Order: sequence, then structure tokens, then C-alpha cells
Amino acid sequence: MNPIQHFHRRSIDDRDAFWTAESAAIHWHKPFEQVLDFSKPPFAKWFVGGETNLCFNAVDRWVDSRGGERALIWVSTEVDQEIIYTYRDLYREVNTVAAMLASQGVGRGDRVLIYMPMIPEAVFTMLACARLGAVHSVVFGGFASVNLAQRIDDAQPKVIVTADAGSRAGKVTPYKPLLDKAIALSTQPPAQVIIVDRGLYAFEPVVGRDLDYRELHHTHDKAEIAPVWLESSAPSYILYTSGTTGKPKGVQRDTGGYAVALASSMKGVFNGKAGETFLCTSDIGWVVGHSYIVYGPLIGGQATILYEGTPIRPDGGILWSLVERFSVNTMFSAPTAIRVLKKQDPALLKKYDLSSLRSLYLAGEPLDEPTAEWIAAGLGKPIIDNYWQTETGWTILAAQPGVADVATKFGSPSFPVYGFDVRVIDEQTGEDLGPNQKGVVAIAPPLPPGAMSTIWGDDERFVETYFNSIPNRQVYSTFDWGLFDEDGYFFILGRTDDVINVAGHRLGTREIEESINNHPSVAECAVVGIADQLKGQVAVAFAVLKDPRVLDEPGADLKLEGAIMKIVDEQLGAVARPARVRFVTTLPKTRSGKVLRRAIVAVCEGRDPGDLTTIEDPSALEQIKDSL
Ligand code: ATP
Ligand code: MG
Repeated sequence: MNPIQHFHRRSIDDRDAFWTAESAAIHWHKPFEQVLDFSKPPFAKWFVGGETNLCFNAVDRWVDSRGGERALIWVSTEVDQEIIYTYRDLYREVNTVAAMLASQGVGRGDRVLIYMPMIPEAVFTMLACARLGAVHSVVFGGFASVNLAQRIDDAQPKVIVTADAGSRAGKVTPYKPLLDKAIALSTQPPAQVIIVDRGLYAFEPVVGRDLDYRELHHTHDKAEIAPVWLESSAPSYILYTSGTTGKPKGVQRDTGGYAVALASSMKGVFNGKAGETFLCTSDIGWVVGHSYIVYGPLIGGQATILYEGTPIRPDGGILWSLVERFSVNTMFSAPTAIRVLKKQDPALLKKYDLSSLRSLYLAGEPLDEPTAEWIAAGLGKPIIDNYWQTETGWTILAAQPGVADVATKFGSPSFPVYGFDVRVIDEQTGEDLGPNQKGVVAIAPPLPPGAMSTIWGDDERFVETYFNSIPNRQVYSTFDWGLFDEDGYFFILGRTDDVINVAGHRLGTREIEESINNHPSVAECAVVGIADQLKGQVAVAFAVLKDPRVLDEPGADLKLEGAIMKIVDEQLGAVARPARVRFVTTLPKTRSGKVLRRAIVAVCEGRDPGDLTTIEDPSALEQIKDSL
């Protein structure tokens, strides 16, 4: 066993002592009486009887020791603005917003829906909810009215906080009309809406319902609101999964377990310490944004950068310029962002002083080896592929430099993170599989601190969905397909839904995609399994090229298709060879950047693609259709 595996073993075998030690990383108003109550499996209650508050841990706790240090750095390349908030400033803002919400009757257990762009007010509102013991539900800004209405009805918020508009790549998306429409569709409309007017979109407030953020702010700008101490298992927030495989699930998070998990991860997973600077390029609408833009870095006493903008505006060097200017120590992004950068001028990687940066963490989708190698070589820094889900709240698999330095392998998110008893399981028999055997990646319960408590308002669906999908075994299914090798390194091979069965051979989509990505012209690709009368299924690939001009010559597409097929043939064998390779300029993705393979399959098989509410750009699916 290497030191990471050893540490992990201890977290499973000696659970109570392990988590008691980790729990010291946060402030407890009242100490807990029991580390874990697992008397009603699969429901796990961590740090039973303990009382704490997420906002206190993220803000108040640092005001004395580092009140003058940077807490929140907001940079917007959309509206060309920048504001730095110290911990003291943040304390002030959060108290004011807490008072604003309290003045509208928001208190312990009430829900507040946040539908906002990447602006500081969104972070203040999240923390203010936590301060009041209210449950926030952040909905990705700009989501369509139908999505929003569903989430309003599910959470039944007392108040919604929003902005007039968001902006992406210079294009303004008015939020206010989307929200008005969603409220009209909803059966559980909120009593009040608080609007940050950014002056991006002129609107008429609804009398009696809509309140102006700045006006309220003015009334409450000297308020002090004491944090509401919550029992550890009290819900802190609701957050919906990305909806890649179907209808999103409302993940409910606890308070104490989440605080401990994040505080601990800031050290163990990120090897960071208070006073450092963290740049996470996700969105507050996703779990990565919740955990590593807002709560994690602040609970860890770090400065966090909230970036409103894309990775390529004004040019592909913008993220690296932020690293240089703010001396970023840890950076967190997604493979999809790196693939976008791959299409930009590589010289931009060398233009900035990146000496402060320790490593780049990437999560959200499989990180293919060619992309990992490209960015590792460009930055000259360790690239840490980490695997997790909205459900788990933090990393399931990762190299953990704060635990020990163990070499990584390209294509692998390394080892289970302490607390996660990760297994690879045979989906027919429910038995544990050994090294190099492919199966369902599962977690033996209890889920660790920080992971979901249940599905909001639906315990039964929680048990049914996650714990009853594999016969003979009550384990948490990740619905991902993978294996671990003889050294214990894990590999995620795609989603279980996407596994392709070619003449009895089972292949993860990721394996074939990885191989195609090795072709020097390919920036990214998606492989799906399409029904085939003869073979059961065949693989079909859709590739985006780094430079589409390589197809200009007549016949070039056939040649490239042949070359790509040959690579797969050589690396994986003829069974994996895609029956067709088609070239498109963009892939259909969710707004969180995940490839919507189920929609591609449906289109290829001439079926209705079903629920497309989470798609980023519907025209991408049209391209797929046209390319067939
Ligand atoms: P839904 O559950 O609603 O279909 P989703 O699974 O895309 O949506 P998220 O929780 O945002 O919602 O994404 C988690 C999934 O993302 C994982 O289950 C896995 O499929 C994929 N993923 C995340 N990180 C990695 C990684 N490092 N390597 C491979 N896959 C990853
Ligand atoms: Mg999922």
C-alpha cells in the first residue's frame, strides 16, 4: 500500500477516530456526541448533536486573524470590472444581505432560490442564507424558464434573489423576463423577488413582489445578524445534478459533514493553507462552484476568485493572466475548458509568470491523456484529474498531495479519497471485482461527510435511485463504469448508460474517445453506441477538429476518417473501431460542459432526443443530424 492508500484505509477501518480528528478543522458551537449515526442505512448522519454554521466557518472565523486579507476577488471580463473584498468586507456584506433576507421573513429552514450570474452578490446571498440557517437552491443563471419553474416548485422558496441580466462572451442574457415567466409557470411562486440591477437590461418591477437589492442594502448596511447554529444534519442547500442522463435530481446537503469535508479537502486534496489564493473557473450553479468557489476556499481561509467571463476573452490567456496577477496557488477547471484552450495559440501558456501556481485540478468529464499531456507540458505543473459528482459534494477519486506525494498516471484520477469506500462491482452479480476488471464504480455505504443526505423531499427516490440499482448489494452506484489497475489507480471509462456492446464486447465510450483524441487534428470527440442489426451496437464517433480547414481539400474527410479508424484499430482492436467518424464544429453539451451522449444516440437512431432542457446549444444537435 502506498501512503495515500494507507491513509484511506484508516478512514474506513478506524472511521470514528479518523473523522474526529478531521472535525477539528472547523469551529463547532456545540461539540457533537456521536461521529456517525448509521442506524437507518443507507442514511448517514455525521457529527450527531454537534452545532455549527457554514457562514461562520467561511467568514467570521477569519475576521480577527485575517480581516484585512483578500477573501473574494471578483473579476468580470464581461462588464470590465474588478472588486476585491477582504474578509472584513465580506463579513459586512454577508451581514447586510442576511438582514435583507431576514427582513423578508427568511429564517431557519426556509428556502431561498438564487438565480444569478457570477457576481459578488450571489456569493453574499449564499453565505447569508447559510448564516440564517436558510436553505439555498442555486439555479444556473440563464437556465430556461421551464427548468427554473421546476426547481421553484421543488424547493418552494420564500424569496428568489436574481439580477436583471447576465452576460456571456459579450452577449447579454436578460434573467428578469426568464424569471417572470418561470414564476408564471410555477405552482409555488415566491412571495418576494430581490433584484440586483446591473443596468444591463431595463425592466419594470412587479409591484408588491419585486424589491431592489441596492435599496434594501442601503436600509440594512449596518446590520449585525448572529449566525444561526444548526444541528450538523440540518440541510444547508439543495442543488440539482447536471441532467446529462435525464431529469436532474435535487441533492440535499447537510451542514456539519459538508463543512468538515471541505475544510479537510482544502488540506488533504489541495495541499493548501490559509492565506493562499484559489481560482476555480466553474459556475456557482454547479457543485464545483459551491464547494470550490464559495465554501471550500473560504472555510480554508483562502482568497477565492469569482470570474465572470469565458476562458478565451479577450484572448486565450485570460486565465493565466489571473494566475499571474493574483498569485494563484491552486487552480481548478474542467477538461472541456482545456479543450477549448487547445484550439488557441499555445504561446499564450508561456506569456505569464505562473510561478505561484502549484497544480491544476480538472474535473467534470473524462480527462483524456492527450489533453492532460498537452496542458501538463504547457504549464509545467502537475495536472490533477479528480472525479466526483454533485451527489458527493467533493472528490471521490484524486491524487492527494496534502496526504502524500504519489506519482500520477495519465488518464487516471488516481486513488479513492479518504472516506469514500470505492469499489468496482459486477452489475449482474453485485460482487466486488478485482484489478483490471471493468464494472460499475460504487461506494460502499455509509457515504462520507459532505456527501448528499437524501434527495430533497424524496427519501424513497434517494434509496431507489442510488442504492437499489445493483442486484444483491446495497451500495451507492455512481452510474459510471470503470476499473482499477494492479497498483490501485482507478480509471473511469464512461457512464454505465453509455457502455457500448459490440458483438458481446463491452466498451466504455471513454476508451474509444481517448484513442481518437490521440489523432493530432482532433480537439475533442464523442463516441456513442448505435443499435445495429448485426452486431447489437456499433460505435459512431463525432469529432471536433483543432482546425477545421484540414477538411478543405476534396476527400480529406474520408482520409481523416480512415486515419482515425486506424488509430482505434491499433490501440483497442477492430471491435472498437467506429463504424463512422463524422466531423462537426461543436458537440451537444449540457450547460455544465458534459457531452449529451443520450441525445446523440437518439438522433442517430432517428428517435426523439427527449428532455433537452439542460443543453447549451441546440444547434449542436442539428449538426449531428446533418452530418449523418
Ligand atoms: P445527471 O446525474 O443529472 O445525469 P451529471 O452526472 O452530468 O448529471 P454531475 O454531478 O455534474 O451531473 O456530474 C458527475 C459526473 O461527471 C460523474 O458521474 C462522471 O460521469 C462525470 N465526471 C466527473 N468528473 C470526472 C472525471 N474526472 N473523469 C471522468 N468522469 C468524470
Ligand atoms: Mg450523475
